[in-house]
Amino acid sequence: MPRLVLLIRTRKLMWPAAALMVLLITVILIRVGLTSPIPDGAPGNLAGRRIAIDPGHGGIDGGTNRPDFLEKEVNLAVALRLRDDLIARGAEVVLTREEDIDLGMMSPEDGDGRYLRGLKTRVSIIEQNQSDLFLSIHVNANHRLPSTSGPMVFYSRKTPASRALAETLQARLNALAEEKGLKRHSAGPARFFLLENCRTTGVIVELGFMTNRTERALLENGDYQQELVQAVIEGLKDFFAQEGSVD
Ligand SMILES: [Zn+2]
Repeated sequence: MPRLVLLIRTRKLMWPAAALMVLLITVILIRVGLTSPIPDGAPGNLAGRRIAIDPGHGGIDGGTNRPDFLEKEVNLAVALRLRDDLIARGAEVVLTREEDIDLGMMSPEDGDGRYLRGLKTRVSIIEQNQSDLFLSIHVNANHRLPSTSGPMVFYSRKTPASRALAETLQARLNALAEEKGLKRHSAGPARFFLLENCRTTGVIVELGFMTNRTERALLENGDYQQELVQAVIEGLKDFFAQEGSVD
């Protein structure tokens, strides 16, 4: 090959090669930034933790609802706020859904109904992520007793650490509930599909009762949603601090 042609070809290749190098370095830097914990030394540090958030329902499945209130929307709004807060603290977050979609409709037909397929998809997203823990976000309803209020956290007895997680979250949420004049609750065991089928430590967080007028208005309020997020963050920090002292 004549030397001149070789020179031109080499030069032509230089720019794509340089661009590729810049891209590779950027990707490496981003990955390092995402995975290395922020060393703030505080107990219960959330940096480097892998957390899955499951905003309940979505798409055709509105969850518990009234003409002017859709559970799926509050679940997603709080989940996105929680995601942003956790990422800002250096945690790695995966969401089972980031928009208003029905996970059952997106899952392949396997003989089960749409709702169950959606739950199975949620389980596999949580398990595949190898999360330290998961939080499934919901809103409660008690149509027969509208005076019922307050956040409630549920766990499965199948995953041993889930009870401790539920109790630390419930304690922080109870403090917020008390401040707002809502009822306090104890974290309780439950046999929901998600809890029964995930091997990962995790809980269902019922943010409050939409059948209670006062609490419904709070649940739709961005400031209160942020207060709920703050309570969950503090509960997570308590949990990891406790876990650290046991190791
Ligand atoms: Zn729900």
